[in-house]
Amino acid sequence: MNTPVLPGLSGGQIVELQHFIGGKSCASSDGETLQIFSPVSEQIIASSARGTLDDVNLAVCAARAQFDGGPWRKLSGAQRGVLISKLADLVERDAEQLADMDAGCIGRVPIEPRLLDLPNAIETLRHSAGWADKIEGRTIPTSGYMGQPSLSYTLREPVGVVAAIVPWNTPLMITCWKLGPLLAAGCTVVIKPSEETPLSALRLAKLCQEAGIPDGVVNVVTGTGNVVGKALCEHPGIDKVTFTGSPEVGREIQRTAGPLFKRISLELGGKSPQIIFDDANLAAAAQGCAMGVFFNQGQICAAGTRILVHRDIASQFAQMLAGAAKSVKVGNPLEEGVQMGPVAKKGQFERVNRYIRQGIADGATVLAGGETQHQTGWFVQPTIFADANNDMSIAQDEIFGPVATVISFDDEEEAIRIANHSRYGLAATVWTTDSARAHRVAGKLCAGAVGINCWAPIDARLPWGGFKTSGLGRECGLSGVLSYTEEKVITVLT
Ligand code: NAD
Repeated sequence: MNTPVLPGLSGGQIVELQHFIGGKSCASSDGETLQIFSPVSEQIIASSARGTLDDVNLAVCAARAQFDGGPWRKLSGAQRGVLISKLADLVERDAEQLADMDAGCIGRVPIEPRLLDLPNAIETLRHSAGWADKIEGRTIPTSGYMGQPSLSYTLREPVGVVAAIVPWNTPLMITCWKLGPLLAAGCTVVIKPSEETPLSALRLAKLCQEAGIPDGVVNVVTGTGNVVGKALCEHPGIDKVTFTGSPEVGREIQRTAGPLFKRISLELGGKSPQIIFDDANLAAAAQGCAMGVFFNQGQICAAGTRILVHRDIASQFAQMLAGAAKSVKVGNPLEEGVQMGPVAKKGQFERVNRYIRQGIADGATVLAGGETQHQTGWFVQPTIFADANNDMSIAQDEIFGPVATVISFDDEEEAIRIANHSRYGLAATVWTTDSARAHRVAGKLCAGAVGINCWAPIDARLPWGGFKTSGLGRECGLSGVLSYTEEKVITVLT
């Protein structure tokens, strides 16, 4: 199998990546690097600087200097908006390359990030640019101060220097969900991309420089989570940590950054239900469910992999999904006609297969796919389980692979109860042609985003985030921008 080609390279060449700190590329202080492997060929495709505590300190100091009185802090909201808009234009100019960088690192079919991640990232930047001069306070009528009339009003101030810690599954889009709003609010940032996917974040930082955003406002330190990520969470120069990733690391971040009273927002995992009622348009529901399970090899936080189906149509619907799974062409994502590449890394391959074995051991029936033997590349088979119940680990745990579990229910109340019986609460979908039921059920689901007859509607203007173990706080839209501000109240006697 050919080595997948990252943009601008011919097969076999290795990209060498460095941090981007204070507007300059630099190696790590001890010269160490990390290797990045193609999930298709398992060959090295890139190496990145392996960040040290000194590198983190340098980057935080650069971001701090800009925040504490550098040229960035002197810009008005309108001026910041112009710069973020320019950045959006540059990302649009380089969109194909950026999409291909992300796709190449995790073995994704390039058309997916080109069609979804990049347009969303660009829109997020443009939407954020629009907010930059609209971050307003309020005047609040009070009963006065100790018998004297007074005027009270609020200001929204930027929270400070942000550490943005990002996962590998949709790296550029998630980086922009953080970068656009935090720049609009007037913050500065140190980005810590995932070990597997630092390319697009580094390019994005260089585009910030090209857009005219002052050096030091946007810094990128590459390296491991337990060195770079942890050091950022503990660094006294960091005011807020915005994290997207697993609940396990989210918990760890609360342990490190929480006691230091840093502001924390967490976008974590999910095990999102898709509820199919017996009056649903089954063809549309099957197509939507298949997308919710197979998109990005199922490596999506909002993957709708708990398929709850009314008992009368459960068997028919499970067969429809199994048919969809069998029709997916798995292979080298750069080959014509291939719809699904490998999962991103060896650990994911082992995790997916472990859950498939567990599902079988627990008594669920495999209708399509099943365990995959390893050859070259971390390919797994799209898998559909039927005859499952909601207590099985395949129904409760985030597998982060193309595996769905079909569970039947008898009535609306039971569907809601099963849907909400999960430690997660990120997204949910209701498939029905009864609009009153659709809204009734949507209102009762514990999820940050509910789609009615559509899976995981993501939009730059809509707040995104989870209930329960799926996270803390919201990204995107006005909620995302305000999450990078502190509210201050000022009172004057009148
Ligand atoms: P992960 O938690 O393993 O890693 C995420 C990031 O945290 C990486 O950059 C990693 O280096 C860093 N990290 C690791 N240990 C750290 C530590 N101790 N301190 C600070 N940082 C540390 O997650 P992943 O495997 O990269 O991504 C998959 C997870 O992300 C899934 O659970 C998925 O659901 C979740 N996710 C959620 C959303 C959302 O919007 N809710 C979006 C995408 C992905």
